Formats: sequence, C-alpha cells, structure tokens
Amino acid sequence: MERIGIYGGTFNPPHIGHIQAAKQAVSALNLTKLLLIPDRIAPHKEIPSGSPTPQQRLDMLRIAAENCPGLEVSDIELRRDGVSYTYLTVEALKAEYPDAELVLLMGTDMFLSFHTWRHPEKILENASLGVFCRGEKNEKTAIAARKAEMEAMGAKVELVDNDVIQISSTQMRRLLAFRCAGSFLPEGVLEYIRENRLYDTRAQWKNLPMEELEAIVVRLLNPNRVAHVLGCRDTAVELARRWGADETDAARAGILHDITKAIDGPLQLTLCEAYGKILSDFSRRYPKTLHALTGSLVAERIFGENKAVVQAIEHHTTGRADMTLLEKIIYVADYMEPNRNFPGVERLRELAYTDITAALKLGLEITLEHLKNQGSEVSPESREALAYLNQ
Ligand code: FE
Ligand code: FE
Repeated sequence: MERIGIYGGTFNPPHIGHIQAAKQAVSALNLTKLLLIPDRIAPHKEIPSGSPTPQQRLDMLRIAAENCPGLEVSDIELRRDGVSYTYLTVEALKAEYPDAELVLLMGTDMFLSFHTWRHPEKILENASLGVFCRGEKNEKTAIAARKAEMEAMGAKVELVDNDVIQISSTQMRRLLAFRCAGSFLPEGVLEYIRENRLYDTRAQWKNLPMEELEAIVVRLLNPNRVAHVLGCRDTAVELARRWGADETDAARAGILHDITKAIDGPLQLTLCEAYGKILSDFSRRYPKTLHALTGSLVAERIFGENKAVVQAIEHHTTGRADMTLLEKIIYVADYMEPNRNFPGVERLRELAYTDITAALKLGLEITLEHLKNQGSEVSPESREALAYLNQ
C-alpha cells in the first residue's frame, strides 16, 4: 500500500530545516512520497505583515524541494478559500488517494495541542500521525504520555527522530534582514527572495531618520525587549545632554544597542562567521555576550552608523579600558534606564548625573560581583575596564 506523508506549514520562508525533516520522514516512515503543503491562512498563527504572498511561499517551496526524491509540493490549501484547516485537507487527500495510507506529520508542540485542533477525530479517521521529536528528555516523556493516550483511543502515532537543525521562521527572518541567512536556505531560495525583494533583503536601511529606524528596530526585537531599548535611547539622550556628548549619536547607539539580542547563542556565531569576525575564546564560550559585537556589525553594515556609534554598541556589555564619553553613556544608560530595577540602581542613577565615570565604575563593580556570585567567568574587557578606572 502506498504511504503518503503530509507536511503542512506556513513555510515563511522554507529553509533547510524543513527539507531535512521532510527527507528524514520519508526514510524513517517508509513513505512512497511526502506532500509539502503551504497553508493559505494558518489556523494557529498570524502571518507577520509584509510577508510574501501565499503564491510566493509556494514558489519558494517548489524551488526548495526541487531535486529531492520523494518530496512533492501541493497547492491544495492555496486553492481553497478561508482558513486552512487540516481536517479539510486530509479529507480532500483521502478522496484523491483512497487506497493510500496517509501520515500527517507535525512537530512536538502541534502534537501536544492536537486535541485543540478543529475536528481532530475527523483527521484521525483518515490519517495516522507522524511526530518529529528532538529527543530532549522532557519532550520525550510528554510525547510518550500523549501517544499512549491517543493509541488507547485507536489512533496510530509514529515518532520520527529529528536531529536536524532547529531554527524558527522568526529567527530566519531576522537573519535574512541581517543578510546572513544564506547557509540556512536551500539552493535557489535566497536568489528568489532577493529577486522578489522579500524579507527586507534589499531594503535600504542606511542613515534612516529616527522614526523609521525605531519602527524597524521594534520589528526585529523580541517584544519584551522593546521598552528597555526605547528607555535606553531616551536615557542616553538625557545623559548626552548633561555631559555634552552628541545627542544624535547617543540616540542611535541607544536604540540599536541590542539589535541582535533576539538571535540565539549558536546563531550569534553564524552571524560572526557571515561577517568574517574571528572570535576570542571567551566569546566562543559565552555566545550570549556576542550580541554587543554582532549588534555593532549590524549597526555598521546594515544601518551605516558612524564609528562612534558602532564602538559604543560593541562595548556596551563588557566595557573596556579607556572608554569614550559615548561608550560610557551607553553602558550606563543600558544599566539605569527606567525599566531597570535592582539593588543599587538608585545610587547609579544619581551618580550618572554627577560623575559619569563613577557611575560606569559602579556598574562594572555590580556586574563583576553578580558574575562572581553566579560562578560565571568575567570577560577580560570588563577586568581591564575596571583596572583602568582603579589606576
Ligand atoms: Fe545588551
Ligand atoms: Fe540592553
């Protein structure tokens, strides 16, 4: 009997993680073929504004699946109006392939929330389930429990080990905006994206007026970081006014200082590689601190910021010996902006207006103390910064 896999999704954009998972499913589940099905309107999530059209997502998926034996792209959901409910798709495919066994593929999260989908019982009448799992312990336990529950009710559930690259579409879109997503896209997809000016890959972001810059920054950050970044910008401007630094530079460094903060640790390394940066041992061990360096690279190359701004971003987490006034301002503003709340912040806020260097020193001391208590390593730059101030 033919076994046909069904792998639906938004594919915004399709990336190598999707294609590798699809190939793994074909071999692990012995599928005759696997249908990749982009949705028209996803039931579970909103598509961000400015996304490609459904037709463009279909085109990209066709390019991605080209030359992959067993993979076929279907426009069945695009041809149907309204929300792309899976039960309707499965019903239609059952009518098209009455003699085949259909296997509906899904990730862990989707599987664990399967009972909340529209008409799960209708899906199970026509298909068995194939669940991608990454093999983390908690995940395995949760999946096993739900699998047993569903099998007791007569469903058939198979697991597919998925050791392929895990990268979310949101992360992909950020990497595209920072022009370093190439290694995650199947051949031809990046060309298509660039030709069609999708995902900001051809946007002209150099020397934008503050309002436009703010809109883009807000789009690229995690929503929970926006208030901090805007607070840091406003505080930096006030401090620049107090200390006679360039207010425009302060505003731009403030708003851009965490621009790559939403990129996960391992992808920070990808960013550095794409920008040709060779890393210190410390940065490799603590990729989280890398957002200062990668942020400065993005500020320089994508947003065309000047050297003073770029430097202030580069040193905003660790500091360094002999910092410029703007560097001090950004370091301190990041620390004391109105959303910050930790023991000592009031003292730091006072000092920032009476002695900016003393405020910087206090910030460094608090950080070092905190790292020590956590048992974490202190970066050489921070040690040098403090040693310089204690001279
Ligand atoms: Fe930061
Ligand atoms: Fe910050």
